Amino acid sequence: MPTIQSATGPIDTNDMGFTLTHEHVLVSSPPILLQYPDRFDLDADLAIAVSNLKAAYEAGVRTIVDLTPITLGRNAPHIRSAAEQSGVQIIVATGLYYYHDVYFSVQPTDAITDLFVEDIEQGIGDTGIHAGVIKAATEPEMTRLNERFLRATARAHRRTGVPIGTHTFPEAQTGLDQIRVFQEEGVDLGRVIIGHSDDSDDIDYLDQIIQSGAYCGMDRIGLPNPRTSEQRADMIAALIQRGHANRITLSHDAGRMHGFSEEVKAERIPDWRYTFVPLEFSQLLRDRGVSDDTIEQMTVHNPRTIFEQTQPY
Ligand SMILES: [Zn+2]
Repeated sequence: MPTIQSATGPIDTNDMGFTLTHEHVLVSSPPILLQYPDRFDLDADLAIAVSNLKAAYEAGVRTIVDLTPITLGRNAPHIRSAAEQSGVQIIVATGLYYYHDVYFSVQPTDAITDLFVEDIEQGIGDTGIHAGVIKAATEPEMTRLNERFLRATARAHRRTGVPIGTHTFPEAQTGLDQIRVFQEEGVDLGRVIIGHSDDSDDIDYLDQIIQSGAYCGMDRIGLPNPRTSEQRADMIAALIQRGHANRITLSHDAGRMHGFSEEVKAERIPDWRYTFVPLEFSQLLRDRGVSDDTIEQMTVHNPRTIFEQTQPY
């Protein structure tokens, strides 16, 4: 059986179970974290993460793909503690956000590729934790630097076999830019999730992603903007009607975010949490004629299919 790396060590892909393919344990601002450490209480953050992950476990979630990139404060030991204390298996990412980062802007593409490969094969720093997925992000448009990040992502993917999960800006259809660069790099798009696709209301755009062979990450479920949960459910049901359930994954892009109070979040966007897909959104899909088998396909089988293709090529 294929084995993949998680925050707490190798797991069998058959044991992934119900998987949320794009979440975060903790997102931060590295310069603020470095210069104003007194503003943060990582122990309190961990307690919040553990309580939210335990709720997810109770709702049936077994695996979370944490797509926090290096440049959004990825903290592998923190993720490992959250996984150990909650029982949820968490896959840790390498990769970069779309921000212009001074360090990475002066690294040759090959050096960026090597760093991603090192995170995956040797482990992240001296933590002993191996990355099991590569994050890429393109917003508001693909710049020349972003294109280099995408090429490094594609090359590290091919060298290691670990899948790619992305952040896009659907308003500018940046998922198609990512696909074009990945195709130029020879990437098998069946190992790529084009994220935030449910922020789009353009079925032709989503159709192009699916026709390329990539997965549509419907992974901002629970956020009221730019589309309501009902609108997201309508679009997903329409794609399923067209026979595309085998190209969809579901998730929230939720998690603890430094600078955003948990109380304010719960008041303003109460559905933006790890439990909304299993507990409530699934029902919105059933109301639209989506069967339990299809929901299982999108939350169990599709993530496993993406992750079980572990061979470099
Ligand atoms: Zn995200």
